[in-house]
Amino acid sequence: MSAVVLAEAGGVVTELAAAISDKRAWLSEIDGAIGDGDHGINMAKGFMQASSALGPATEGLAASFTLLGDTLLGGIGGSMGPLYGTFFLEMANALSGAATLDVAGCGRMLHAGLAGVAELGGAKPGDKTMLDALVPAVAAFDAARAAGADFAACLDAMAAAAERGRDATREMVAKVGRAARLGERSRGVLDAGAASCCLILQTLAAALKRRMT
Ligand code: ADP
Ligand code: MG
Repeated sequence: MSAVVLAEAGGVVTELAAAISDKRAWLSEIDGAIGDGDHGINMAKGFMQASSALGPATEGLAASFTLLGDTLLGGIGGSMGPLYGTFFLEMANALSGAATLDVAGCGRMLHAGLAGVAELGGAKPGDKTMLDALVPAVAAFDAARAAGADFAACLDAMAAAAERGRDATREMVAKVGRAARLGERSRGVLDAGAASCCLILQTLAAALKRRMT
């Protein structure tokens, strides 16, 4: 059965940071349409800060997610610092004690991250937030697993659903966060948090698949 050796997977955070940094102008541009245009810059700052702090003590995935979560919680402004900080810290907690990550463990990790974000932010699917990428992505992972798909195929299903979820935010009216003040005028553009969440989940899926043994 395929699994990822957690002690050797800290580099996943390096890959996440590179992906966010690459797309930072695009993420800020999306945020600029109905927000304040800082999303990409803030995210890149936090992710790059964590990535450059990775060292021998953070070679494992749990420790590197903890470092990333702590850095995002403490170091970046906007709504996303606490929300993504919680996402990665809750995922790190779900990994504690395990040596490898298999499909069941990955399901638990994703649910822990999702529950943390949903509880802290109080947003619901359809509110035009990062949850509109995350909720369907986790549901697709679960559905693929229930249908007997292997770990890699579950990650593929998650990544594809995250992208559909991101794209569906275009037609939504923002109900929470800065963009909610625009009401109907928030319709017609993507949500920045859903865009970054999709990018994170797709990068995570590819990074885990590459590390499967
Ligand atoms: P800010 O709005 O403070 O400038 P960012 O620009 O970094 O923060 O992030 C904006 C994104 O935050 C939005 O696109 C949305 O996806 C997300 N967001 C805002 N509030 C919430 C919430 N309560 N729950 C989940 N996501 C949220
Ligand atoms: Mg913003």
